[in-house]
Amino acid sequence: MTRRARPAADIPIIGGGIIGSAIAWWLKGHFRYPGTVTVIEPDPTYADGATSRSLGSIRQQFSTPENILMSRFGLNFVARLADWIDLPADAMPDARLTHGHYLMLATEAGSDALQANVAVQQATDAPVALLNPDEVRRRFPWINTADIGCAAFGLRDEGWVDPYALLQTFRRAARAADACYLQDRVIAIDRSGDTVTGLALGSGDHLPVGAVVNAAGPWAGAVAAMADIDLPVVPRKRTVFHVTTPTPPADPVLIVDPSGVYVRPEGNGFLTGSSPLPGQPDPDGGNLDPDYDQFEGVCWPALAHRSVAFEALRMTGAWGGFYDYNTFDQNAVLGPHRQVGNFWFANGFSGHGVQQAPAVGRALAEWLLQGRSVSLSLDLFRHDRIAAGKPVVERGII
Ligand SMILES: Cc1cc2nc3c(=O)[nH]c(=O)nc-3n(C[C@H](O)[C@H](O)[C@H](O)COP(=O)(O)OP(=O)(O)OC[C@H]3O[C@@H](n4cnc5c(N)ncnc54)[C@H](O)[C@@H]3O)c2cc1C
Repeated sequence: MTRRARPAADIPIIGGGIIGSAIAWWLKGHFRYPGTVTVIEPDPTYADGATSRSLGSIRQQFSTPENILMSRFGLNFVARLADWIDLPADAMPDARLTHGHYLMLATEAGSDALQANVAVQQATDAPVALLNPDEVRRRFPWINTADIGCAAFGLRDEGWVDPYALLQTFRRAARAADACYLQDRVIAIDRSGDTVTGLALGSGDHLPVGAVVNAAGPWAGAVAAMADIDLPVVPRKRTVFHVTTPTPPADPVLIVDPSGVYVRPEGNGFLTGSSPLPGQPDPDGGNLDPDYDQFEGVCWPALAHRSVAFEALRMTGAWGGFYDYNTFDQNAVLGPHRQVGNFWFANGFSGHGVQQAPAVGRALAEWLLQGRSVSLSLDLFRHDRIAAGKPVVERGII
């Protein structure tokens, strides 16, 4: 039986990254929740969190309508940030949207899947065009289409945002609306039967709980385990490389290559990286040191093959970051636990949590306060799908 948070119950949020801070702002800043919202975050610099190491890219090219709609809301929210968030101009971080386009390339073998994705996107009113190789060449003569079967091209309403600036926007606005940020760490969760009763903090303090939200990003599985709840979310390292080329294309786009390598324009250069293809090793955890071998072994060969513009790439920087990786189906886990009804999930975004943060914050706040996510039904992402063995199949994971 799902239990709603009682009016004005204390709502602690474990983790103050972009997800925890978005939920805090929607609760206090937007819906004016009168109860206490406490965000527990050990590191106000966010050095190792997923958000500050993210690329902040936003696309409508998913294969699940709910993912498309969440990201579309995220894009529109960022595009009109000042309409939503009321902060003095000199306190407003620069989280402006950079408009850009995704170009997803598929080989002949991958064409059916890409076409099916585009059909879902178009049925969901996403402005995405399916291009044949000739059309790709006409628009982007610098792209090698010899091994390409088709491509999906975002005509508008895609781009990227500085994820740290967006996190700080939510955090500052949440604090201005009386959300409390505690610099502390949750080290234990007290449970009595099917109810979470309190949180033990590293400082020795103890917090009461009306409803508690797990927003611990890559560490969400470890936090759920403190309440004896199984959540298959783990940190998985991804490396991002900054590169320059002496021969940049005049009209660069964000390319997702069939090899799994992506490349996106950034400043005077590009950002690139890759996710392991199915069957390739992808260990949990480890450190955040960049995996430099990936540049020479994976990214550069794929990009040089894709365009002569990338043949003479020079790597100018790199960083590692943890995906908040849902090993079950690489999709969000949202809403209350079915038995432990005051334990709430906002986890497992696996590479698309920044663009979904505005919609997730709204959904969780509505769900907590009104008993359901009113603006957009997100029941698909409930935790019980895991025990039921019913994955959300999203073909657009990067
Ligand atoms: C390299 C990289 C590229 C990415 N690119 C994109 C992209 O292009 N587009 C996109 O939408 N998404 C992208 N993502 C994914 C996105 O960054 C994440 O999904 C999102 O940032 C998750 O936000 P979060 O707030 O849940 O996690 P985090 O930002 O990690 O925040 C979780 C917080 O929980 C805190 N915490 C952990 N344990 C505890 C505890 N016990 N007690 C209290 N607090 C705790 C941590 O300190 C941390 O600050 C990328 C991620 C990476 C790593």
